[in-house]
Amino acid sequence: MAEEFGTVVIGAGLAGGTVVESLRDAGYTAQIALVGADPAAPYYRPDLSKKVMIEGSDPADSALRGEDWYPAHNVSTFFGTSATSIDTDAQTVDLEDGRELSYGQVILATGAVPRTLDVPGVQLGNIHTLRDAGDAVAIRSQFGDGKKVAVIGGGWIGLEVAAAAKSHGCDVTVVLRTDAPPLSSVLGQELGEYFEDLHRKNGVNFLKNADTTAFTGDSAVEAVETSAGSVPADLVVVGIGADPAIDLASSAGLSTENGVIVDEQMRTSDDNVLAIGDIANAQNTLRGERLRVEHWDNAVRQAEVAASTISGGTKSYDWQPYFYTDQFDLGMEYVGRGATEDDVIIRGDESSGEFIVFWHRDGTVTAAMNVNVWDYGDELRALIGKEIAADRLADEQVPVDQL
Ligand code: NAP
Repeated sequence: MAEEFGTVVIGAGLAGGTVVESLRDAGYTAQIALVGADPAAPYYRPDLSKKVMIEGSDPADSALRGEDWYPAHNVSTFFGTSATSIDTDAQTVDLEDGRELSYGQVILATGAVPRTLDVPGVQLGNIHTLRDAGDAVAIRSQFGDGKKVAVIGGGWIGLEVAAAAKSHGCDVTVVLRTDAPPLSSVLGQELGEYFEDLHRKNGVNFLKNADTTAFTGDSAVEAVETSAGSVPADLVVVGIGADPAIDLASSAGLSTENGVIVDEQMRTSDDNVLAIGDIANAQNTLRGERLRVEHWDNAVRQAEVAASTISGGTKSYDWQPYFYTDQFDLGMEYVGRGATEDDVIIRGDESSGEFIVFWHRDGTVTAAMNVNVWDYGDELRALIGKEIAADRLADEQVPVDQL
């Protein structure tokens, strides 16, 4: 006999946790189920590579709500439990423990799965990806003065983990498969070099043009074998990107392409199913294009849109993508979506460590990033998509809010 719910949320990460709260904030009164494979209640995932790994904070301190919030708000939680299938005709969700939940609406917030390397030795101990609180605690427990840490991949996970490991005195090598600087596939060559410099100044080593071919060791990893040589390692963190977790959506027959296709109100190809967060390839009305964004701000804001849709509201996906990072003494926020071939305009002095960057294409601002200068968030966001001359963007005599 199926348990009955107004809304079943599948995925109890930041998006799933936020949508439940937003539904209650919007006055939604029906019973809600929140199903998640992670045994923990939803938490703020960006803390994992920062507060948890650097300051040693307990991931439980990053919980969105205490465990008692959910029953107090008529939310039945199924943490540590995966959903195995959705029957969109019967409007039911099957759980791995044999239970069946019936729904009026289902919201998919299944997130992304870290990619792994298919090379010999990958099953050895102390080789990790970073996605959940358990991963962060396991990685942190291996940090220590002089510990040899190899990080595969120079994306956000790679560089944030490298900075965290360095803060604990580890000997860190970032292994890159090409000779391009880290983050250059997002920020372009010049800013990639800036991040590489920052890491080198803080003692991080880079091994470039290095395809990982194997991990070696007895039971635990002792070295990463690459096409550019061997890197001794007591701990390996693989940060080579993530894939949207869309198996449930595809087997339910929903339209998928680079994620789950949703409209600007987060509705999938089935009237009673919505999708949000890392899996949603969503119609962005401000940019007039479909976007799939794997950052926390997107998870939170799309959750608010989905709650509005279910509650009869009119919110839509109408904002520029945004994310931030903290690495060593650098904190930055990025808004918009630049391309690596865009022109890069620096406002201020890069060497001071405090500046703003604009990405610029055909006279139009495509993205902006404030580095160690704050309180420009709304002003920079407002400039994306505007036609502004390059010399004006660079001119510090023109206040940002008058650009
Ligand atoms: P990512 O940012 O997409 O970076 C992946 C990196 O791995 C890139 O440097 C890529 O190099 C490299 N790579 C890809 N395939 C490889 C392979 N087979 N061998 C070696 N290197 C390979 O992904 P991530 O760092 O793993 O992060 C996972 C997700 O978490 C992302 O969606 C990210 O946005 C999110 N995240 C965000 C933040 C933040 O917003 N601050 C922090 C942590 C995580 P190429 O450039 O050469 O392709």
